[in-house]
Amino acid sequence: MMAQGHTIPMTDMARLLAEHGAQVSFVTTPVNASRLAGFIADVEAAGTAIRFVELHFPATEFGLPDGELGIPRLTFIGFCGFSSLVRYIISQNNLLENVTDENELITIPGFPTQLELTKAKCPGSLYIPGMEKIRDKMIEEELRSDGEVINSFQELETVYIESFEQVAKKKVWTVGPMCLCHRDSNTMSARGNKASMDEAQCLQWLDSMKPGSVIFVSFGSLAATTPQQLVELGLGLEASKKPFIWVIKAGPKFPEVEEWLADGFEERVKDRGMIIRGWAPQVMILWHQAIGGFMTHCGWNSTIEGICAGVPMITWPHFQEQFLNEMLVVDVLKTGVQVGMKGITEWGNEQQEVMVTRDAVETAVHTLMNEGEAAEVLRMRAKDYAIKARKAFDEEGSSYNNIRLLIQEMGNKTDASG
Ligand code: UDP
Repeated sequence: MMAQGHTIPMTDMARLLAEHGAQVSFVTTPVNASRLAGFIADVEAAGTAIRFVELHFPATEFGLPDGELGIPRLTFIGFCGFSSLVRYIISQNNLLENVTDENELITIPGFPTQLELTKAKCPGSLYIPGMEKIRDKMIEEELRSDGEVINSFQELETVYIESFEQVAKKKVWTVGPMCLCHRDSNTMSARGNKASMDEAQCLQWLDSMKPGSVIFVSFGSLAATTPQQLVELGLGLEASKKPFIWVIKAGPKFPEVEEWLADGFEERVKDRGMIIRGWAPQVMILWHQAIGGFMTHCGWNSTIEGICAGVPMITWPHFQEQFLNEMLVVDVLKTGVQVGMKGITEWGNEQQEVMVTRDAVETAVHTLMNEGEAAEVLRMRAKDYAIKARKAFDEEGSSYNNIRLLIQEMGNKTDASG
């Protein structure tokens, strides 16, 4: 699926592989290529060894041969090791098919640490009623590949990666956090799409804020938050009295949110709140020293970007494997607090009730951003993981070495197959 959460790390991966000496061909459809204009221009200007191949959709028109080309195949689905492992175990054991109570706690057998889940927290590619066959077919194909690539790093989730290798019966290459391939704010802000606001103005605003004082609120590229919930979130941010940047993707579909923002809210918070409508230069913002917390929907890319930023998180999963990423952050890494989501936020269901109250938002922001000891411990841990992430990524780190070994091994396989 050409979702942004898949394409963005693939562009980072292309950059990394090329920087490590590989010749990269980036195959995509014309419409998706148009979104990557900034990336393509940057790669061309820098002379990076990435070639873009536009594949007109559907590919079958071209009569491509099926599996004859002898090119080694790697699986990259964009999940972390923790969530990938849960996904495979759920599928292999048909864990959810016969569960009738959405809130019944289910133990994940063979998981390296104690893990209990409800069906309500397993949406998307983990479980869609009636789609088990497609999911299992996808996993079957993945299992036939020559290896798994993960946008994570060994030191972050060692036991889960090792266990995933055993379950998948193949090498799992951790090559991340791939977002660290961005070293200047230009390439950082061009990631995924063109920012919908003036980046210089945003940086200026951030520069004017105290270090660690701002909470960044963003729910990725796909999550649809209902208008009522957006208003409630805004009121919670207002009540917290903390500075914030809030990325809103309500769009023209929800004019009531625009009306509500204009009807006093923006005026009341204008000294400490910045609202971004549309695409935000997320990595550029997250890595600014003014950011002290990240309220996230727990998409894996956002989560790993938050880890690299060294900031604690407020977790607000919506769907897909986001509830699992929340568990990794809150229960394993212990660098975040939950806002309290019990189940999925459905697409297109505008009647849905408010699932997180303004009080819950305010409490979570206070828990994360206050000066007490518990918050300080969260901050210290988050900083520590950011240091580990950079070590893994930099020369001779685990991910750095994995990229080199991966290129070598794929080269050997291609040579062997002639
Ligand atoms: N992103 C961004 N600006 C936005 C929204 C998202 O740059 O306004 C980027 C974000 O940095 C991340 C990706 O889009 O790299 C979203 O991927 P993620 O896995 O977090 O969530 P998804 O959008 O797939 O739900």
